Amino acid sequence: MFKLFVNGEFVDSASGESYEVRNPATSELVETVAKGNTADAKMAIDAAEEALGKWSEASHTQAPQVLSKAAQLIRASEQELATLLTREQGKTLPESLGEIRFFAKTLEYYSGAKLTGSFVTLTDKVTAEVVKEPVGIVGGIVPWNNPVMLMGAKVVSSIRAGDTIVVKPATTTPLTTLRCAQILQEAGLPKGVFNVVPGPGGVVGEELLRNPKVRKVSFTGETETGKHIMEVAARELKRVTLELGGSNPVIVADDADLEAAVDNTLFGRFRNCGQGCMCIKRAYVFEKVALQFIDRLVEKVKAMKVGNGLVQGVNMGPIHSASQRESFEEQVNDGISKGAKVLTGGSRPTGPEYDKGFFYLPTLLENADPSSKVVREEVFGPALPIFRVTDMEEAVRLANDSIYGLGAHLWTRDIQKAMKAAKRLQAGTILVNTAYGAGGWEIEVPMGGFKHSGVGREYGIEGLSHYQEMKTIVYGT
Ligand code: NDP
Repeated sequence: MFKLFVNGEFVDSASGESYEVRNPATSELVETVAKGNTADAKMAIDAAEEALGKWSEASHTQAPQVLSKAAQLIRASEQELATLLTREQGKTLPESLGEIRFFAKTLEYYSGAKLTGSFVTLTDKVTAEVVKEPVGIVGGIVPWNNPVMLMGAKVVSSIRAGDTIVVKPATTTPLTTLRCAQILQEAGLPKGVFNVVPGPGGVVGEELLRNPKVRKVSFTGETETGKHIMEVAARELKRVTLELGGSNPVIVADDADLEAAVDNTLFGRFRNCGQGCMCIKRAYVFEKVALQFIDRLVEKVKAMKVGNGLVQGVNMGPIHSASQRESFEEQVNDGISKGAKVLTGGSRPTGPEYDKGFFYLPTLLENADPSSKVVREEVFGPALPIFRVTDMEEAVRLANDSIYGLGAHLWTRDIQKAMKAAKRLQAGTILVNTAYGAGGWEIEVPMGGFKHSGVGREYGIEGLSHYQEMKTIVYGT
């Protein structure tokens, strides 16, 4: 049984209760996990408080070494960690390996990050120093789609900034996070700096929001949950970072490298079975190249192999849970009932290997009604509505017609056109002739959303600054 990780030890839950984590591809039991409650969350917050004073001092010298050592240990255990991640989350083994390596890279990047401050001369007798200090205890609330990568952004930034953290993983994906916590401790992280309490969001998560000792909440998840978090955290004026939903458009102009645009749209939509905030969720293709683009994409989607992520050669695993598949099917069916044409997919695969998992075929739709759920809502599953547009003006207008603003993708060989469109696209990250996860976005640059896609940024030095308080000290002589 996996237990809570509090104050450097694996401990039982206060209630003695536990629950099962099951494999989304097979429904088999992966592990039993201790189920945390409010008392457990309080105990972890107290451990984080106890560790805070020493760590905020020691982190200046110790954090770089600990993070660098942890990166080595994570890389040495990547096969074990990736297999566990696939078994609890469902993504393919190569995708899990990519996620574990990204976590190792996060550790390496922040191990080398410098904590910056500045001096400002105010008059010939007065100088101000602007210093950054730890924010205190952080509550990290993580979803199930990229559990290790998203936990990594919160935990590693906190450690580097001199904070301590209590992580609440998604109920369905706590296992790899618990193993990572153990590995960070082996790397020399002091007890109580990084604690993990699995348990329901409405119980363990709520305690992180409400407990006044927690000074910052860093949350990744659905926009509606994010709004609730901001509201509750406001009562104690907690700092918040909210990484929320997205409905990223891709625009393909008539002068684009079409083969690259097709390949990256395929990857950008269907990686992790379409369950990514930065996944491409709507395609706007110039009329002149639409037929060619669609034919090539349909051909490649049909060639995809759906199945258990542990099986070699599988390109796409299952949807993470039965309820997630139901919500996704409702969105696709709403699109179809309102006139969308199914170019490929549009149903569950059949056969004994699919019976016990939450599989769905990769799906392409054309002519979806712009008011249908599959266009308006965030679609967290493998379906892409494709639209034909006449020019960049129309493409940008439709791309911006969303409550979300996390990312946008653009394919054109005309750099002037790209720069002009990129400035007008309402999103936190604009990818021109490249894709997220394919070298198009890296840890060195901040990510986060406009509009309903979030508040604040993670990654890069900008992301780190959200885990720090700023203090101005003015010296007169
Ligand atoms: P949820 O918002 O349902 O859950 C996310 C986390 O919040 C889980 O750990 C959940 O716990 C917890 N939680 C739920 N209710 C509360 C509450 N009342 N108080 C505190 N914590 C709570 O999101 P999903 O799990 O469905 O995750 C998918 C979403 O994440 C998508 O919308 C996606 O776009 C978004 N996302 C955003 C990213 C970004 O960077 N912008 C990156 C990746 C994903 P429990 O598991 O127990 O319910």
